[in-house]
Amino acid sequence: RSAVRLTQVTKEYGRGPSAVVALDDVSAGIAAGSFTAVMGPSGSGKSTFLHCAAGLDRPTSGTVRLGGEDLGELDEKELTRFRRTRIGFVFQSFNLLSSLTVEQNITLPLRLAGAGTDHDSVRGVTAAVGLTGLLGRRPAELSGGQQQRVAIARALITRPEVIFADEPTGALDPDTADDILALLRQAVTDLHQTVVMVTHDPAAARRTDRVVFLAGGRVARRLDAPSAEQVK
Ligand code: ADP
Ligand code: ADP
Repeated sequence: RSAVRLTQVTKEYGRGPSAVVALDDVSAGIAAGSFTAVMGPSGSGKSTFLHCAAGLDRPTSGTVRLGGEDLGELDEKELTRFRRTRIGFVFQSFNLLSSLTVEQNITLPLRLAGAGTDHDSVRGVTAAVGLTGLLGRRPAELSGGQQQRVAIARALITRPEVIFADEPTGALDPDTADDILALLRQAVTDLHQTVVMVTHDPAAARRTDRVVFLAGGRVARRLDAPSAEQVK
């Protein structure tokens, strides 16, 4: 079963002669319960792929299905609600709110969705990502790795079916990156979530179940059970 399926997705930025085709007729399925990496050179369409797959951006043509919904059928309000309740998104730059504490950042999606903040699940998620004891701090008082953990906790708090992560280890040292990859793997194995991660890092891609390589806005190659020889 596919957790996410893109069918003939094209995304153009701009119009007319200056239009940029960021995704060119891409069809791809992300298997439910898998950890998938999206790789490719800079400008190959990785972020656009992630944004369209997650419903953060709408394709110019083609369809995206996620969790039984055709995202193209949702109006703006429905799509916003869908993003808040059904998916988690981990931004490369963490996107934490500096005036809020760690706890307030993590529980923000619950409040935006109009759901209560249940303290047991907040405790569970913060323990899982290793932030116990830091709930009262502000983002500026955390290391980069800790900030990324907050961003992941925030993506996990609503228990979404699919977590999208845009270069979640890009700004981190190798040991911290390892911990973050272990957290994403844990989401797949323990919580039965599906994780889709854009990465430049071959070492990170080798820890996933499948790699989708993009080139020039198209799927150039797919690899199952990526190994060291295959991902460079
Ligand atoms: P599926 O969800 O069935 O894997 P995809 O949309 O991911 O479908 O795959 C699109 C096409 O690529 C299908 O024709 C599929 O058979 C083929 N394909 C899937 N996995 C691989 C792979 N590891 N290597 C090459 N081609 C693949
Ligand atoms: P990647 O993540 O692989 O670096 P992107 O998806 O960011 O690739 O970009 C794919 C192509 O689309 C690039 O040529 C990029 O310049 C272009 N692009 C991305 N976002 C925009 C935008 N908002 N406006 C215009 N062009 C864009």
